[in-house]
Amino acid sequence: MTLVHDNLEPLEAKIRTRDVDVYYGEKQAIDSVSIDIPTEYVTAFIGPSGCGKSTFLRSLNRMNDTIPSARVEGCIELDGEDIYRTKMDVVQLRARVGMVFQKPNPFPKSIYENIAYGPRIHGLAESKSDLDEIVERSLQRAGLWNEVKDRLGESGTALSGGQQQRLCIARAIAVDPEVILMDEPCSALDPIATARVEELIADLTGRYAIVIVTHSMQQAARVSQRTAFFHLGKMVEYGRTSDIFTNPLEERTKDYITGRYG
Ligand code: ADP
Repeated sequence: MTLVHDNLEPLEAKIRTRDVDVYYGEKQAIDSVSIDIPTEYVTAFIGPSGCGKSTFLRSLNRMNDTIPSARVEGCIELDGEDIYRTKMDVVQLRARVGMVFQKPNPFPKSIYENIAYGPRIHGLAESKSDLDEIVERSLQRAGLWNEVKDRLGESGTALSGGQQQRLCIARAIAVDPEVILMDEPCSALDPIATARVEELIADLTGRYAIVIVTHSMQQAARVSQRTAFFHLGKMVEYGRTSDIFTNPLEERTKDYITGRYG
């Protein structure tokens, strides 16, 4: 059972999960997680290492399908449509529910191609000038345009780590997603690059439903409006970020917030 704070205003859920269990072979990594992810906000998943944050995050766009032993049970809906039980195309799903990983992973191609690839395969551009426009808009939205506009032909992998991560965010944005999942997106970045990515998340808030897994409580407090605390595969508590950090209701949440374990 999750303790859900009772002062949450009712919001339309972009993603709605009910009683989600995730197994790796025999081992259960997620136990009966039900949550509504609102469109308007950034939702943070926090909790000690190994508690299942990343497993649960990956189940939201079927990224666990790539792990042969992984099995997802329960219901996960995107705009009311079950993403596992309907004939939803996984490539389409991952365009609607984009993902940014811990380690920046640009394609070993030009900066331009990194962005243009998705819109091209999803048929979002009719002409070269359409595509140019999408590339520029995505890079602008990711706060990277001014740094790269004169070197779009250079390799994405030649950028700094922080720039690469913003390139990966621009790549996710380019296919016009509804949700962006971020799995510890700053853990490989230095503090300055981290601050830039956090600013970017703030800029994107309200435009996309964003879910961020982070081991940094400070980061969760800075970027999110909703926080879910996970422990041993369960979602223990869920509420407004400010309440989770200043007025946690569950003992396990309190212990984690106060640094008793981590
Ligand atoms: P967190 O993101 O909170 O650190 P994870 O979701 O990575 O937690 O892991 C949750 C549990 O599932 C851990 O016990 C971890 O060892 C296990 N696990 C994660 N990925 C795999 C995998 N590919 N195969 C088997 N077990 C896994």
